Amino acid sequence: MREIRPGVWFIKGENRGRYPYAHSLYFEDGETLLVDTGAGPFLKELSDKTGQVVLSHYHRDHVACNHLFAGASFSIHEDDAAGVETMEGFLSLSGLDQVDIESYWKIVKQSNFTATKIDNYLREGDSFDLGRLKIQVLHLPGHTPGHCGFLIENYNTVFAADIDLSTFGPWYGNASSDVVQFRQSIRRLRSLKPELLITGHERPVEDEIDQKLQAYEAVLDQRDQDIIAALKRRPATLKELSEKNIIYRRHYGQEVLLYFERNMIQKHLESLIIRGMVIKTEDGLYEAL
Ligand SMILES: [Zn+2]
Ligand SMILES: [Zn+2]
Repeated sequence: MREIRPGVWFIKGENRGRYPYAHSLYFEDGETLLVDTGAGPFLKELSDKTGQVVLSHYHRDHVACNHLFAGASFSIHEDDAAGVETMEGFLSLSGLDQVDIESYWKIVKQSNFTATKIDNYLREGDSFDLGRLKIQVLHLPGHTPGHCGFLIENYNTVFAADIDLSTFGPWYGNASSDVVQFRQSIRRLRSLKPELLITGHERPVEDEIDQKLQAYEAVLDQRDQDIIAALKRRPATLKELSEKNIIYRRHYGQEVLLYFERNMIQKHLESLIIRGMVIKTEDGLYEAL
């Protein structure tokens, strides 16, 4: 744990916070609050003194150790709540009922779904007053519908969870993800001009935050262009496009990754159709205009 600002502790996740782990944030002020529980089982050392746990979104890499905080109250945005409350909700939000779920549990190093009882729903603009620290909820949808970030007003610092500035770029592979909202959320984050940006998977960033967010957003444009270039060479079905490794460099023969790739490509195609750059023919072929 590292005190990154007075009262604000950055908890580096196992495997440097890379999937299926994620960084957490811990606030120790008049009250204590933990954001996300995916850093690793070592979070147990905080279980006795944590009053509340706030979840950025429902993904398993951010909620894996919820069970260690039986005495705490839990909050998450309403649009993501079902994803931690029940297995059915998790499958419906993620779309993972479409694939071999056992292989998915292996990827996230969990044996199955464990449910969390949610006590409060987070809403855009809500704030937590922990004493001196004031933390504002930012609803930043796209990655998941209820994905939230948190603005620590005292330090103009944002925890942006999975708007994570990874070189991979934005991820929106679930049934309920939305690429258009993801772009809007990146722009909203840029408009806040944070001085320190903490994410779920990368190192905290203090320099050139706006340029880095811009580059992260530009990955979306590159994917649009790659899809259009492929369709200009030859019209293709969604399945054919999904096998061209436009999003993931490799699928390692994993059905789950192919499924995520197909979802992400489909979301691009839908937005390209709305923008009049692609059409879908009656026989299911996509063509660039
Ligand atoms: Zn996520
Ligand atoms: Zn994550």
